[in-house]
Amino acid sequence: MKLEDFPKEIQPYIIPKQNGELIYRCLNCGLEYDIDQLLYTCPHCGQVLLIYDRNFDQLKKIPGKLWHQIFDYRKMLTIPALKGIYRFHEFIGPIIPFDAIIYLGEGHTPVIEANSLLQEKVGIRFYFKNDGQNPSASFKDRGMASALSYIYYLIQNRHVSDVLAICASTGDTSAAAALYAAYLKPHVKSAVLLPHKKVTPQQLSQPLGSGAAVFEIPGVFDDCMKVVEALSETYNVALLNSKNAWRILGQESYSYEIAQDFEYDMKDKVIVVPIGNAGNITAVMNGFLKFYETGIINTLPQILGVQSKHANPVYRYYQESDAKKRKFIPITVKPSVAQAAMIGNPVSMPRVIHLVDLYNRVADQQKVFFVEVAEQDIMDWQILANRSGHIACTHGGECLAGLVKAKAQGKISKNDIAILDSTAHALKFSGFQEMYFENCFPAEFEILPDKNLINTPILLKPKDLEKFPAPGKELPEDDFKRFVNRISEEIAEILDLQKV
Ligand SMILES: *Cc1c(COP(=O)(O)O)cnc(C)c1O
Ligand SMILES: [Zn+2]
Repeated sequence: MKLEDFPKEIQPYIIPKQNGELIYRCLNCGLEYDIDQLLYTCPHCGQVLLIYDRNFDQLKKIPGKLWHQIFDYRKMLTIPALKGIYRFHEFIGPIIPFDAIIYLGEGHTPVIEANSLLQEKVGIRFYFKNDGQNPSASFKDRGMASALSYIYYLIQNRHVSDVLAICASTGDTSAAAALYAAYLKPHVKSAVLLPHKKVTPQQLSQPLGSGAAVFEIPGVFDDCMKVVEALSETYNVALLNSKNAWRILGQESYSYEIAQDFEYDMKDKVIVVPIGNAGNITAVMNGFLKFYETGIINTLPQILGVQSKHANPVYRYYQESDAKKRKFIPITVKPSVAQAAMIGNPVSMPRVIHLVDLYNRVADQQKVFFVEVAEQDIMDWQILANRSGHIACTHGGECLAGLVKAKAQGKISKNDIAILDSTAHALKFSGFQEMYFENCFPAEFEILPDKNLINTPILLKPKDLEKFPAPGKELPEDDFKRFVNRISEEIAEILDLQKV
């Protein structure tokens, strides 16, 4: 729809203006820094940063109801820059000009209600938000669209040139980084560091296909992260891990979309997210806080963070109920099917501590909860979900297992409505499904398949047939007829089909 076709009173708001004033703020010492440079940690105290808008209060002058109309009407625009996460431009990156925005189809992923059978089993109404339907098949595209749009803006303003973008990854960050960097060729090149054999073949194929330099390192993600940090402190590279606060800003779009998907009514809603490096839950909390402060939503939804027992440092931290006694202790992770969240020392932990406290204070009650789940439950629930029409990855299964656990523990009530983050596409993690169906998980995963959930292909090659068709080798007519008949008979027998 063209701008002049929108209602007159809404027209001045439809196309966002570049009038934010963004700064990095240190969560520890409070110092602020200009955003004309790429900063990851506070030069003064070394702590992680978040991006704030000095003009944020201006956004409060627009009534919540009007914001609803602005975002809802913006859906009808055909301007590519505003089709993805920047539909919420004022909240995502109000200084980024349209011609710097990179849109590859990210965001606005579908929200799919579970069917009644599955809802009955779980005992609560719930939806999956399929972030696996992003361009590189995980939610990481949201943050990369933001980080790379910002880098492109710096390039356009000649603050930087010939950027080498670098990241450590459990698989999906590198896939997204390589994809968005490839689009900015020749201005940006990318290099990714992956823990050797700790990403799936599909995830490994992605940065290779996008033309990134791919390095495999012995160890786990936390080890790769240390190398990348050392590189970014010593060399002229652009760090694309979620230490980069621009990633967080882009990932806040997840919250904005949920608000819009549910008509901005967050009453009785529970947002369920898996936690790895904790960038996602940081963004989700910050996003809802911003919409709450501007009156776009008038309730803060509950947030349920889920971790596997094999990688649970955040869950452990919050086990101590007395906030003053809490002490963060990094852990050594064990193998997990929620492999993209297999992180023992999350970079965003200081942000989580800051925001959980703020979120609960603003809501004036505890709204953020954490649970841990067994590897077995992650697999069982993922497979059950997908047998009910979903495309959940193992982390989606982790969310569902977490929902069941939280309900059993009374952390959420049966009248709540849950929105679960299926953070990636099921296909990225199909190797774990295969291990489940073939009952060949290495012992340290502690997973045994439920026989009722196993599904394997049946090879049909009747013994009484001698000749089979093959590529470029047609069978003579009689042989081929026999082949079709015999195979049909076998299928009919297995499926117990009745003749018409
Ligand atoms: C990165 C990732 C996570 C973990 O998100 P964090 O922001 O690191 O907490 C979960 N699931 C998938 C599929 C991921 O790629
Ligand atoms: Zn500081």
